Parts: sequence; structure tokens; C-alpha cells
Amino acid sequence: MPTNTRRFPKLAAALLALGVATNPLPAAAADFTQVPGVYRQAIGDLQVTALFDGVAFLPVQQLKGMPPAKTQASLDTFHVPQTQDGVQTAVNAYLVRRGGELLLVDTGTADCFGPALGQVLGNLRAAGVRPEDVRHVLLTHAHPDHLCGVLTADGQMAYPNATLWLSEADARYWLDPATRDLAPEAMHPLFDMARRAVAPYQAAGRFKAVGDGDALPAGVERVATPGHTPGHTSWRVHGSGQASLLVWGDVVHYHAVQLRHPEAAFEYDSDRRQAVASRKRLLAEVAERGEWVAGAHLPFPGMGHVVREGRHSAASYRWVPTEFGPIGKP
Ligand SMILES: [Zn+2]
Repeated sequence: MPTNTRRFPKLAAALLALGVATNPLPAAAADFTQVPGVYRQAIGDLQVTALFDGVAFLPVQQLKGMPPAKTQASLDTFHVPQTQDGVQTAVNAYLVRRGGELLLVDTGTADCFGPALGQVLGNLRAAGVRPEDVRHVLLTHAHPDHLCGVLTADGQMAYPNATLWLSEADARYWLDPATRDLAPEAMHPLFDMARRAVAPYQAAGRFKAVGDGDALPAGVERVATPGHTPGHTSWRVHGSGQASLLVWGDVVHYHAVQLRHPEAAFEYDSDRRQAVASRKRLLAEVAERGEWVAGAHLPFPGMGHVVREGRHSAASYRWVPTEFGPIGKP
């Protein structure tokens, strides 16, 4: 927007009141590298910061239960970036300031997915947050793109003062050497990464495996969404009044397909039928509530709302992403 603020002081004042920057871009923008992957959103009195970890590419063949032509039609409709490696898929984590406490939901890949990802900790610092100030880390499940980031590159606790929360069912499955030995050998690294990630928190007495009825951090609700993993969990954080954010982890991997066709499953769902049932149930719930949603694999910042479409008996949904804007006072 060209703005001659010297000639239009009233316009400049009005723009500033709206929170629109009138300064030119810094010179470094000439490099045309991406800016830090940080996005802020106020939800009532909750202060949410989306943190970008990087992108992975999911082969389209890993989407199950859908005719390939139908899948491709959905990907084309939504102009999803695709390479020969697959469908571009963001990896996100979410920091929520609730009252005086900082909660982080998921932590990204750290070094588990190679050097192109692993940006959550750096982006958290870029957002002006000190990792030692994070009080709770809530894991949606124990897959490496969600929990490897609890460690620094040298294997120390990235969030040294935080308590780590994981569902009991995921803890039982992923942290038990007996389950690992029964699983196909190709999956063994996933078990090893999970055990390595939580070990220092367990040693420090700050790892909590939670089941029904167990105490949780203030304002946090556990919404069981099993299927992608045995104990996959969506975390709802409540603010004052009606304000809430539901962080749904891996309820959706292929946003362009699985909202339109919730029956489409992902190859790495541990129980595909259960994952489909959880997705259908949760999509209906968040659409009905009209609440804020954040997803680990939705296009960054991965925050917005789910809207029900059509009147068919087979429900279909659309993703309505948030809009960048100024942050008002809660
Ligand atoms: Zn994931």
C-alpha cells in the first residue's frame, strides 16, 4: 500500500490506529528469504503464538480409502503445492499464554526429520519467549514430528522447567520396550525416538502420563481423539468466558482432502477406522461450537475455523483460515 504519510498525516494516524505498519520493509528483505515462522492470535484473553517447524512432503499414495482421481481433484481444487516427493505439509506447534502461564502444544521435529525442519525452538526465541519460561508441554501424541523438539540438539531438555504431558495410552504403547519388539522393525526408530525424548523429563520427575479423571494444568481439557496413535489427544485450552482453542494434532494430515472427505485415512494411522471415527466426531463438534482450531499439519499458521458444507448425510467441511491482523486488547 503506497502511503505518503507526510502529505496525509490523518491517514497515517488512522493507519497506525489500525496497527498497519507504514515503514518500508527492512533492507534484508532484498534477500527474499522467509521471515521467522511466527504468528500471533488473541482468542479472548488467550494469547496464542503459532510456531512453524518446516514442511514435510507426504506421498499422495499414503492417503487411503479414496479413489486416486477423487484425491487429486481435491488437491487441485485447493491448489495444494505438490512436488514429486508428495503434498507439501506444514509442521506446526502452538504456544498459549493463559494467565501467567505458558503452555506449548507439540514441539516440532528438532533433528528427527533432517535440517530443513526443526525450527520451533528458534521461532519461539524469535517470538521473544525464553524456553525456560514454558511451564507445560502438552503432546498430542508420541510421533517424532511432535515430540523430538522437547530436546535440544545435544539431547538436553529444551524446556528445562516444563512438565511434559502425554496420554497414558500413548505412553503405554510408545515407551514400552515390549511393544517395540512386537512392532515391525521399520517402526522401531519411532519407539526409540519417543523413549529418548521423554527420558530426561522422566528422570527429573516431570513427565506425566494422563488418563481419564487425572488432574491437568489449569484451563486445559483433554479430548480423546484416538486412531492416528492409540492415545492421540486433542488439547482444548480455555480462556475466560467462551474463549477456547482446540489444538487437534494429527486429526487431519491432508487438509484439502480430509475435511471434504473425512472418511479418507492416512497410511500411518495405527487404527484407520478409529482415526476416521475420531475425525468425523471432532469435525462435527468444532463446526457446531464454532470454536478456534489449530492443527499441526494445517497450512501455517494452521489456525482458523471449521465450517460444515452441504446438506448431505455424509458431512463435509471447509477450512476457514485466520486472517493476519492487529491484536486488540482482550
Ligand atoms: Zn504429525
